[in-house]
Amino acid sequence: MIRVTVWNEFVHEREYEGIRQVYPDGIHGCIAGFLGAASDISVRCATLDMPGQGISGEILADTDVLIWWGHARHEEVTDENVRLIRDNVLSGMGLIALHSAHFSKVMKALLGTSMTLRWRNGDSEKLWCTAPYHPIAAGVPECIEIPREEMYGEFFDIPKPDDVVFTGWFKGGEVFRSGCTFTRGMGKIFYFQPGHEEYPVYHMPEIQRIITNAVRWAAPSVRLSSPPQCTEC
Ligand code: ZN
Repeated sequence: MIRVTVWNEFVHEREYEGIRQVYPDGIHGCIAGFLGAASDISVRCATLDMPGQGISGEILADTDVLIWWGHARHEEVTDENVRLIRDNVLSGMGLIALHSAHFSKVMKALLGTSMTLRWRNGDSEKLWCTAPYHPIAAGVPECIEIPREEMYGEFFDIPKPDDVVFTGWFKGGEVFRSGCTFTRGMGKIFYFQPGHEEYPVYHMPEIQRIITNAVRWAAPSVRLSSPPQCTEC
């Protein structure tokens, strides 16, 4: 079984009725729902308001792939939790950062660039598959139409990705590297742009397929007990 922890700051769904209607069980509840339906995946959820912000060394040691959704409260995530997550990724834990999690402290710590981008709310997106040979693209159509999505556009200040699996095109003409893979230490990272909280993007079967594929891809083949260390000779 692949052990997944779905972490969500879980703020917008409680603050805004319109968003609660889209995700009555929270974004994490929706993601846990479709992932949990897979016979090879077990899921737990964690949220910012839980003790320890839902993160501990024990939980991460019991997690093969961590999924992260955050937006309004990035700065509240403690430096200690960021260090724990970074060390676990370097040791082999997979990480899937969704939508506005590009700007999370965890992603900044792991990727090291500003993670800034261009954005505008209220657009539509054509999500093109630009690496159909990649395991994350298995069974995914060459183009997915997302009727309503927040525009994220280039320039996106990320380090050069290992693969750009999806490229988004927005009605306003902007383009974006919407699905990017990275490797840090032993850990595989997938950043995936779709998933603005006001729109039912995570209810779309094609988007669920991509996230499920990403979980299987990011599950560790090597898991160390700590990040790689220098050895004295
Ligand atoms: Zn958004």
